[in-house]
Amino acid sequence: MDFLPLFLNIRGRRCLVVGGGEIARRKAELLCRAGATVCVVAPRVDEPLRKLVMSVNGECREREFRDSDLEGAVIVVAATNERKINRLVSEAAGRAGMPVNVVDQPELCSFIFPAVIDRSPVVLAVSSSGRSPVLVRQIKEQLETMIPGAIGSLADLLGSYRDEVKQRIGGFSSRVRFWERLLDSEVSELVYSGKEDEARQLVEQRLAQSGKESDSGEVYLVGAGPGDPDLLTLRALRLMQKADVVLYDRLVSPEILARIRPDAERIHVGKQRQNHPIPQEEINDMLIRLAKAGKRVLRLKGGDPFIFGRGGEEIETLAEKGIPFQVIPGITAASGCACYAGIPLTHRDHSQSVRFLTGHLKGDRVDLNWQQLVGEKNQTLVFYMGLASLGYICAELKGHGMAAETPAALVQQGTTRNQKVVTGTLETLPALVEKSNIKAPTIIIVGDVVKLHRQFAWFQPTR
Ligand code: SAH
Repeated sequence: MDFLPLFLNIRGRRCLVVGGGEIARRKAELLCRAGATVCVVAPRVDEPLRKLVMSVNGECREREFRDSDLEGAVIVVAATNERKINRLVSEAAGRAGMPVNVVDQPELCSFIFPAVIDRSPVVLAVSSSGRSPVLVRQIKEQLETMIPGAIGSLADLLGSYRDEVKQRIGGFSSRVRFWERLLDSEVSELVYSGKEDEARQLVEQRLAQSGKESDSGEVYLVGAGPGDPDLLTLRALRLMQKADVVLYDRLVSPEILARIRPDAERIHVGKQRQNHPIPQEEINDMLIRLAKAGKRVLRLKGGDPFIFGRGGEEIETLAEKGIPFQVIPGITAASGCACYAGIPLTHRDHSQSVRFLTGHLKGDRVDLNWQQLVGEKNQTLVFYMGLASLGYICAELKGHGMAAETPAALVQQGTTRNQKVVTGTLETLPALVEKSNIKAPTIIIVGDVVKLHRQFAWFQPTR
């Protein structure tokens, strides 16, 4: 971080603005909105700025800046179009140990103004540390549309119950739980639709009931998708913000982990192919133990938890013990990789069905009904966990009568910056892959649809 974001209380405090034009006025307006008493120094002060300053009982000094102008001020903003004067102000502030902002000269600033989304008392500040004001403006526009206009009223309403909640509900985490449950209820909608009385009734009802509901934990079994964090579901993101503890797999990318609530405890229970560092039973036990201790436990898995994810086994024990859980689907590797590789899994002209299969080697075999697989025409086959068995899979398909020239593709780390697609046929793919320095995870797609990759490959990550 180049700058520490802070919210400064300048109500009733003197803030100095050096400069008398339009830009100075804009900064002065912002300071006035936060309740400052603005003092302006400039040989000429434009009328609108003067009016503004007078309206907050500030002061205009119509002359050049002097060091002594800083006396009694808490911050200073230099907004003149003379770089020499701006530098003078910055140096004087530096000597006085006073925070200084110089408009458009970041090297002279000790603080910068963020873009502000003001839904007071809720205030959002956005900054690119001076790198790209246009990017910041775009982010601000997006946030403007996402943050309800009445969120300030909601904050006021909740704030008015803080003391009472503190008195009635002992223990920090119980209080947090109370507020979270309240915010999950219809209280926000009531406030946003102007029904504040009903919202207050609801809060009071909840307060009266508090302590009666049990504080048992819960497990969220969540699919994190194939890698690209933009492919997380909204629900996954919401639960990632709620969890107290996260158990995650090796397949969950760092970009996705970065979206977990920062103070959540993280436990890596990733399994490798041959060597299982944490056995499945132990993971199941951990889920139970943590949930029983009242934690909200996020079990984050690559792809979809119910597709080759052993999700069923994990919730089986939870269900037996009566521990509440939710299962959130994710985009499975087959969908993610196929879309990002431009290979439609089904297609009117080429494929009327698709099968997800495991290519996992048991000893030196993959246990599948090859005869039946090959018997079905116009079908796409997708093999998970098939890198080590690629040669075996291609040989079995050919051996059971599938044409050697059937198109086949291998997608490495699909949907991520490291995505790589190798295409060939059942005959050629194993050798092509061998030459390509491929890294797990990979998926194999077999069928006529693979031909479409050449035409549809839209995702070209630059490494
Ligand atoms: N539950 C997961 C699958 C877990 S099995 C899902 O629904 O996607 C692990 C296998 O998934 C890997 O061996 C690989 O075949 C596949 N896989 C997962 N993520 C992948 C990715 N980004 N690119 C290619 N294959 C992936």
